[in-house]
Amino acid sequence: MKGMIPRGVFALGFLRLLGILLAVALAPARAADGELRVETGFEGASARVVSIDQATRSIGFEPGGDPRHGWPCWWSFRIRGAQAGETLTLRLRALSAPIPQSAYGWLKDKPLSLDWASPSRAAWSVDGETWQQTESGVREGDWMSYRLKATAEQVLVAWGPPYTASRSAEFVRGCAQKNPAVAKAESLCQSRDGRPVPLLRMAEGGRPGSQRGTLWIQARQHAWECGSSWIAQGVAEWILAGCPEAAWLRQQYEIVVVPVMDVDHVASGQGGKEALPQDQNRDWSARPHWPEVAAAQVALGALMDAGRLSAFIDLHNPGPGDRAVHFHTPPDEASKPGQRAAIERFEGLAKMHFTKVLPVQEKLVKSGAVYSPTWMQMSHCWVAARAPESTLALCIETPWNTDRSNQEGYREMGAAIGLTLSKFLQESGVISPKP
Ligand SMILES: [Zn+2]
Repeated sequence: MKGMIPRGVFALGFLRLLGILLAVALAPARAADGELRVETGFEGASARVVSIDQATRSIGFEPGGDPRHGWPCWWSFRIRGAQAGETLTLRLRALSAPIPQSAYGWLKDKPLSLDWASPSRAAWSVDGETWQQTESGVREGDWMSYRLKATAEQVLVAWGPPYTASRSAEFVRGCAQKNPAVAKAESLCQSRDGRPVPLLRMAEGGRPGSQRGTLWIQARQHAWECGSSWIAQGVAEWILAGCPEAAWLRQQYEIVVVPVMDVDHVASGQGGKEALPQDQNRDWSARPHWPEVAAAQVALGALMDAGRLSAFIDLHNPGPGDRAVHFHTPPDEASKPGQRAAIERFEGLAKMHFTKVLPVQEKLVKSGAVYSPTWMQMSHCWVAARAPESTLALCIETPWNTDRSNQEGYREMGAAIGLTLSKFLQESGVISPKP
């Protein structure tokens, strides 16, 4: 009949409408019910959800990284649907995919051990600014379980306190705005994916740049090692603060701090270490793959040509069992006697000034052929090979698996490094660049 809607079509339309109405009606109810959800759509996030048990309030997950882009130990995600006061359980297991490339015989073509992905205490935050540590996790076979009391509907959780490329940019900009006469916000270069690599340059007073030695402090060639960026921030904060040792450093030297070198792997939540085609800290060759390394080589090369590089410090985080800070240094056969003497003197001072934060390991780790077949392409070895006798070149490894491995402890370690550098250089006398 003309104008009449067939009964079937009407019924279909009615059901569809009913469905939409039900969905709309149920959506807020689901949120109010506190159904747990995991979100990873933000900078630095990384997780593969294995299961979510709404009844036991338990989330099973693996790190979200792809082993081709580095060791899959980093994880970071947001939980939604929590109810304040309830206890959540995070159950973490290792990613089973093998590591395609490794300088370490025990790792090639094997999955990364859960030990690297499971700090004894994980990090959590409500606002993404202030991070706390959970109680100690419990290892049960292939799983590590963390229990966490939610204080709000959403909780951010991570391997350690995240430090993204955006945070680095914000920190560097903030330093320059607050201290316009001392600090400048720059970019080391543009990354392969087109991101700026924030760099902070600090110097105070009228002494011309050409007459200043330079201290170069960089962090995060390995994207998962978030603690090293907090330490770099701690060094910069200490240098810009009020104590006489920091003021002396600002007035006599130029200080360059790069809180995040590998901005791309950090942004995409990848591990970075041993990423294809080449680990960033094995890329210090004549033809580097990573723009950050190439740009650092150019800047450091110019400083060395001018006789202006006084210290080069590369910040890292070590293995899961390390509880003391240690120094990776160039091997004896690839360093000059003056460089080795500088490292020993710095180490002696570090043992005085670091230990209020974390103990210092008794022995230096020398990065020769025994340590890695590509040791010559590590940053501090590259610098030592080109730098004069007087330059301090080393890598500092700060533990990530202790009760001090948090925002506060890392920043205090940064302050301790700043103070040690100042004492070290005051003892040495100000290094005069070549005329
Ligand atoms: Zn590292």
